[in-house]
Amino acid sequence: MNLAEKIVKLKKEKNAIILAHNYQRPEIQDIADYVGDSIELSRKAMEEEKAEIIVFAAVDFMAESAVILNPDKKVLLPSLGARCPMAQMLTVDEIKRCKALYPNLPLVLYVNTLAAAKAYCDICCTSANAVEVIESINAETVLFGPDHNLAEYVQEKTGKTIIPIPERGFCPTHLLFQPEEVHVLRMQYPDAVVMVHPECTAEMRNVADFVGSTSQMCRFAKESNAKTFIVATEEGLLHRLRKENPQKRFVLAYEGAVCPNMKLNTLERLYMALKEEKHVVTVPEPIASKARRALERMFELK
Ligand code: SF4
Repeated sequence: MNLAEKIVKLKKEKNAIILAHNYQRPEIQDIADYVGDSIELSRKAMEEEKAEIIVFAAVDFMAESAVILNPDKKVLLPSLGARCPMAQMLTVDEIKRCKALYPNLPLVLYVNTLAAAKAYCDICCTSANAVEVIESINAETVLFGPDHNLAEYVQEKTGKTIIPIPERGFCPTHLLFQPEEVHVLRMQYPDAVVMVHPECTAEMRNVADFVGSTSQMCRFAKESNAKTFIVATEEGLLHRLRKENPQKRFVLAYEGAVCPNMKLNTLERLYMALKEEKHVVTVPEPIASKARRALERMFELK
């Protein structure tokens, strides 16, 4: 029996489910019960009432959201070192400083934040619904963190004034994409459609045919008549795109666009975490309740 088969067997014995983020290694995506973005996965976990253990193959803040939304389940992270650097960029001290500076402004936080930060915000958003969330708020100026590029994109789309906190939070992986590579790829694939994640820079958004989150890219690729897509997001998504659209071609806009944090999860680590039920993610009260309210306000918008 190979390792993947052992994991599937163990998962059944332990009444566990495996949730894998779109940026996970192909071999992890292939054994997962669900593959998706962070909030899609947390919602899936909520629907799986009978599961007792959730193995969340992703990074720290995503596993925390799963814990917050599924307090009765044991949530395991295959590698405890899988931490998102962008989420670490927004500290509670920075939030307190900005709130003191702008006491009357609402605070919207991208789900790519730690639970301790989410506990201070009015509402959360994802890269898929950030524009709708900001539009739903009865204020023309909003504090938004931690991704500076997403803040800029939302400001362009809504016309509202978005104050980014911290001033220049970013995703190191999405910052690797540059328009030069896209121009070269366009020469090679003149009919290609360019899909860009909003965590990329404004220069990248300017060369995009479509700007959207990973889940929006999957939907767009499925519905589009185009045959070739140049994709500017973490390379793991291409595995899912190719699997769901075997007749279409997907080209990564920059070959080095790998999130090393996401890739810390391996089949071996996943197996050991499940076997020993280790790397249990917890979120203390009252942080969990406060963060849950911010996530639920986002869900209520739908
Ligand atoms: S791709 Fe960027 S935002 Fe996502 S986990 Fe990696 S560093 Fe964080």
